[in-house]
Amino acid sequence: MSKPASTRSSSAFLSVDLDRMGKQVGFLMIPHSPDDDAWGVTRVPVAVIANGTGPTVILEGGNHGDEYEGPIAICELIRELDPGEIQGRLILMPANNVHAVMAGKRVSPVDGVNFNRAFPGDPHGTVTQQTTAFIVDQLYPEADAFLDLHSGGSSLDILPSAIIQPSEDSTLRQQNILAAQAFDAPLTVVIDNLGDPRTATAAACRAGLITMGTELGGGGTVSVSALEIARRGIRNVLVHLGVLSTETAVEPRRDQRILSLPGTDAYVFATVDGIFEPLHRHGHEVRAGEPAGRIHCTWDPSRPPEEVHYQSDGMLYGRRQPGRVKPGNCCLVVAKPYG
Ligand code: CA
Repeated sequence: MSKPASTRSSSAFLSVDLDRMGKQVGFLMIPHSPDDDAWGVTRVPVAVIANGTGPTVILEGGNHGDEYEGPIAICELIRELDPGEIQGRLILMPANNVHAVMAGKRVSPVDGVNFNRAFPGDPHGTVTQQTTAFIVDQLYPEADAFLDLHSGGSSLDILPSAIIQPSEDSTLRQQNILAAQAFDAPLTVVIDNLGDPRTATAAACRAGLITMGTELGGGGTVSVSALEIARRGIRNVLVHLGVLSTETAVEPRRDQRILSLPGTDAYVFATVDGIFEPLHRHGHEVRAGEPAGRIHCTWDPSRPPEEVHYQSDGMLYGRRQPGRVKPGNCCLVVAKPYG
């Protein structure tokens, strides 16, 4: 595809050639001049695998550094995929928030910025803002589709799911739904991050890319079952998009459900400082107004626990992982049937 390059100037550069056929493994280099390195770079890993003709698909992992299944599966693809197996081009980025990935943290320890609230970025901003700006200005215009592989991270444990990114454009919305369904996770969930425009997937949609995400477990660990879902799902979507041949397709599951988060009512937030006791397991069907959990103040036994309640009917979809909570922490997430 030939689309106009961005007019925003940038000092970031690639060590791989996006137009070369075959497989290249290299880096997006962000000039970075901290105390101990005057003329160094932050190296964000990028692999390009290209062959024949077909769509360009960007796979992102490590947008948050404590979400592991997507990055593992993308690295496996980089090592295992032979260019002759594909038609089109894959731009594989397993560790985009690279300082956070190496630290096992959600946000970058270098600039404190949340990568997924840093789109469309700033080519003259912090390392994180420069990285997201390069993706928006130089990579999205090269691409037809974008897969953003998240998990719940250290603070949330989420039922493994494919995520539909809503779009104002009805054609793109339908394409996004089909891509997420092709991933074929046990659950498919519409999540718009309360309309936040600063996410990677919202920015990809604005660029006109077929866009989907995932939430694959969480809790700051690697889930064996979620990793299997990731490996299988990525290949399913690449078959759906025409990059991998249909011979590599696997039999779809028959029990796929489509859910959505009911806006702000999806969330149960902590109301006081304490230890959160959830009352239900993942997948439990809940009702609005029903007790959802208790927050205990174990250092003040004279105080009874504070009860918190569900704000929506639906299914318990995500739960906070650490027991310790402060007011405003997200304790529980409820999803309900879509449509
Ligand atoms: Ca995430």
